[in-house]
Amino acid sequence: MQNNVIFHEKLRRFWRPGDEIICTRIFRHSANNCYLCGNTPIEWHHVLLNTMTNQIIDVEFSCIINIKKIMEKLGSGQKILFFPQYTEEVEHLNSQYPGTAAIVQFSFNPDVMAQLLSKPKELSYVQVKSILNHTVKYNDEFMTELFHAALDIYLERKYYIYDYLYEHEKTGTAEQSIADHLRREWEREMYEEDYNATSYESNVKDDDIPF
Ligand SMILES: [Zn+2]
Repeated sequence: MQNNVIFHEKLRRFWRPGDEIICTRIFRHSANNCYLCGNTPIEWHHVLLNTMTNQIIDVEFSCIINIKKIMEKLGSGQKILFFPQYTEEVEHLNSQYPGTAAIVQFSFNPDVMAQLLSKPKELSYVQVKSILNHTVKYNDEFMTELFHAALDIYLERKYYIYDYLYEHEKTGTAEQSIADHLRREWEREMYEEDYNATSYESNVKDDDIPF
């Protein structure tokens, strides 16, 4: 019971309903205590960032689930968010306690955006677009840098093609839809080339043309 009170108090210092929590890193082997329950040694460290306050804490696996349970008690439907490279961990947490974790789709926190952009392979169309839409509103150097990093990915992956597709052409992921579109374009061009080639071969003599 005493532990429970301490846990609640410590969590209250780190998180208020509405604040977003993102797990930015998971690692093993360190002498750190779990910030919330004090347990040591921790097998799996989870570095949690409150994106509103920029406060960071290090907690163990089971305390992530305890956080979720307290969030629920306080009437919050929030989940602990994870970067896309931690999909397996999200599934593991949710198998232990459903609805605990989710992959972060987008965060307005500049450091989180920078971290997402540093692993472009994991970034989805929605995330790249969200970062562009958000960072374009700012003029400072850091946001401009993030904007250009996102723009490079946008151009490289030809996401502009996806943005111009009709809704019915958007099937599956953005990448699939773009690939399908390019294949259709290519087939159409091939067909037109064939068509032109055939008409050249038809050997029409000038005499046959009535004008
Ligand atoms: Zn703990």
